Amino acid sequence: MYDTIIIGSGPSGLNTALYTSRSNLKTLVIEKGLYGGQLNNTKEVENYIGVEKISGQDLADIMYNQTLPFGVEHTYGDVLSITKENDLFKVTTDIGEEYISTTVVIATGTQHRELGVQGELEYSGRGVSYCAICDGAFFKDKDILVVGGGDSALEEGEYLTNYGKQVTLIHRRNELRGTKILQDRFNNKENTDMKLSYTVKQILGDGKKVTHVELESTDVADTKKDLTINIDGVFIYVGLIPNTDSFKDLDILDSQNYVITNDKMETSVEGLYAVGDVRQKELRQIATAVGDGSICGTEIYKYIQTKKDIAN
Ligand code: NAP
Repeated sequence: MYDTIIIGSGPSGLNTALYTSRSNLKTLVIEKGLYGGQLNNTKEVENYIGVEKISGQDLADIMYNQTLPFGVEHTYGDVLSITKENDLFKVTTDIGEEYISTTVVIATGTQHRELGVQGELEYSGRGVSYCAICDGAFFKDKDILVVGGGDSALEEGEYLTNYGKQVTLIHRRNELRGTKILQDRFNNKENTDMKLSYTVKQILGDGKKVTHVELESTDVADTKKDLTINIDGVFIYVGLIPNTDSFKDLDILDSQNYVITNDKMETSVEGLYAVGDVRQKELRQIATAVGDGSICGTEIYKYIQTKKDIAN
């Protein structure tokens, strides 16, 4: 029996746990992968105030370790359902474990979106990747294509210049979505190129690995030609999708499957909260995830105190 169960151990989940445990609430964090969430795919963090420069994994270690002295329990499991009965939540995992709690926090984050073109699935792991930190080293002195125009594409693209002979970024519009500083950093590298107003039509290979990519012009003025280019690696960063498959029955999701909350991180189900990237929100950053966690942990404390006061 827990005061709160937090599903997911990225920055938002871990900071919620820090706040609830420091309020003496019995806190369990359930994680299905590595603690730290997307931090594990982040080479370097430099926009989290108070920490000048740190690797994503080191920051994840610090955040995780910081929860331990306050008695946070951590366990592994893939949560399949949350149900509510008699004012208590039951959280069930893939291995049949059931946990009971007064409150639950969804902190399951997001995962990469697929591009949905021919050749993508066929060559996934054989030239097609979604993680520069994991796979970049396989493309030393090779030609790399990065797809997407957001912060992820620019940041990961810049990282890939450490390995690739040439890193070409393509974006479907003629204007990038990503932050200016990341645009400049990518463009300032000697071995980069950018093709705006192009999409990937098809990823081609020799049956074993990627060899070519067909690019289609989206230029409205029709000044650009479709191209086929030689490429060894295709890194895809075309946005994120929320990890909310297990919560579809709860009627708390928006049309894009993000969890709807108010400013207190409350969902429409009393006692059920959501924090971090999985929430419907404008800005998905470590700082905003951590902020969600502080608010949520504080609100859970107030909620449980009120329940105790009523019971007495
Ligand atoms: P994003 O901001 O949603 O950008 C996705 C990019 O992919 C957009 O440029 C989009 O084009 C393009 N795209 C989407 N679907 C496409 C398709 N079917 N074909 C071709 N292109 C497609 O995603 P993200 O870059 O992963 O970033 C997600 C969030 O994390 C953002 O809030 C970002 O700021 C944050 N983030 C922050 C940092 C940092 O602070 N250092 C680093 C990484 C990510 P359009 O622009 O035309 O829509």
